[in-house]
Amino acid sequence: MSINTIIFDLDDTLLWDKQSIQTAFDKTCEYAATLHNVEPKQLEESVRAEARKLYESYETYDYTVLIGINPFEGLWGTFDDPTPQFQKMKEIIPQYQKDAWTNGLKALGIDDPALGAELSERFVEERKKAPYVYEDTYAVLDELKGRYQLVLLTNGAPSLQNLKLEITPEIRAYFDHVIISGDFGKGKPDASIFEYVMQKAGISAEEGIMVGDNLNTDILGSSRVSMPNVWINRENKAQNPEIPTTYEVTSLTEFLNLVKTL
Ligand SMILES: [Mg+2]
Repeated sequence: MSINTIIFDLDDTLLWDKQSIQTAFDKTCEYAATLHNVEPKQLEESVRAEARKLYESYETYDYTVLIGINPFEGLWGTFDDPTPQFQKMKEIIPQYQKDAWTNGLKALGIDDPALGAELSERFVEERKKAPYVYEDTYAVLDELKGRYQLVLLTNGAPSLQNLKLEITPEIRAYFDHVIISGDFGKGKPDASIFEYVMQKAGISAEEGIMVGDNLNTDILGSSRVSMPNVWINRENKAQNPEIPTTYEVTSLTEFLNLVKTL
């Protein structure tokens, strides 16, 4: 049976989310350096560390792992989503965002909660202003559209993933189905969300192919339902022999050339 459906991950597969977060950190920390004697890169590292620490301390942490939401998404999301766990996050997150910056400053000897609050707001704005896509994202989607059924399968809070799609409005129109883990209730690599995708798309596992940057979610999860997969490894990361990877490429363009041969 041949492949008729391509399932794409969103963050760091089609959208260059890491670069967007990096830009928001750069801009926010450079601003802080105009007010205090602080090295921007040092502040960024300090805030990242404090954010991780706080994020892991909340009662919502296990849920964020289940759905697949990282601490830096927490720094700009609102989590205004319907489940009780998201409602809990919605309560926690404004303080989290302030505290991550305030504690990051404090760890460098700057005790200034008002600035922490200001930087936390600035970070949200800078992230929204920096929606990066890869240089070949649209060219590859243009080639595939009409030839394959296209599915977007993304881990995260619906409010935040939909916001990402709103600030990069070209993406959504390419897809026949958009599936967000927070709507479904479990994220990749759980086999159940891949079964849900197959049901939605009306395909068997061998008719689909999962394309993503993350071995632990995209590749592991698709292997659990015996769906072929393509690991987009742009950063030359090491393979994990325990995660069955069907194909490995270094870019979307390379994936496009590969899929034409399948
Ligand atoms: Mg990803």
